[in-house]
Amino acid sequence: MTTTDNADQVVVRLDGVRKEFGESIALDGVSLEIRAGEAVAVMGPSGSGKSTLLNMVAGLDRPTSGRVVVHGEDLEGLGEKELALFRRRRIGMIFQFFNLLDDLPALDNVALAAQLTGTPAKAARKRALELLGELGIADRKDIYPAALSGGERQRVAVARALMNRPALLLADEPTGALDSRSGDQVMDLLIDLNTIGQTLLMVTHDERLAMRCASRVIEFADGRMDSERTLERHV
Ligand code: ADP
Ligand code: MG
Repeated sequence: MTTTDNADQVVVRLDGVRKEFGESIALDGVSLEIRAGEAVAVMGPSGSGKSTLLNMVAGLDRPTSGRVVVHGEDLEGLGEKELALFRRRRIGMIFQFFNLLDDLPALDNVALAAQLTGTPAKAARKRALELLGELGIADRKDIYPAALSGGERQRVAVARALMNRPALLLADEPTGALDSRSGDQVMDLLIDLNTIGQTLLMVTHDERLAMRCASRVIEFADGRMDSERTLERHV
């Protein structure tokens, strides 16, 4: 899958990031650095700014003020097209409700991610099949999302996120819609990916999962980083 050699490399840097939505302040001056190979879990109450943080890092939305640098790229300097390209090439994203395309079978959902960055269809499908195999769902390649279980859908989403060997994997409550057994399987997958070097930034409500998966846990409250813990991982 993916490996990262340069362990000292800063993959994410936020400097005083503030995000307002009208009157409401979603992020209130967040500064944060994530290095290659880290697995960072963000926790905190609903509405505390966790998803907004991930959206800033993914370049899905822009801060009101402050700076976001990802993989050496200052996102403020990128136009919309460049930002979309940056996202496709450098970022993998996993969401609570999978966000798969309903009218494409599993394999095409995964392959499309590479085709959108210019990889020819045949090569994209080959890599997609390899990834589905590594994630243990190659036999589900022709199945449409509606007929997959929640755990299978999320594994397809993980495969899609890994297609372009992203510098950073973002996950917003990736186990939030899964029963505990499938949730554990997806979490094991994320742990394995991090073990072979994949940098990971995830939001979760589940303390137990955070403790298993993360090397660092950040608590959010009211758009601010409230506290931070470095963990010895128990895997
Ligand atoms: P969390 O993921 O921690 O639950 P969010 O980042 O989704 O929190 O939201 C933080 C705050 O910003 C909330 O008050 C939310 O209502 C507000 N917010 C988030 N996205 C938007 C948006 N697109 N438009 C208006 N308000 C938003
Ligand atoms: Mg959220």
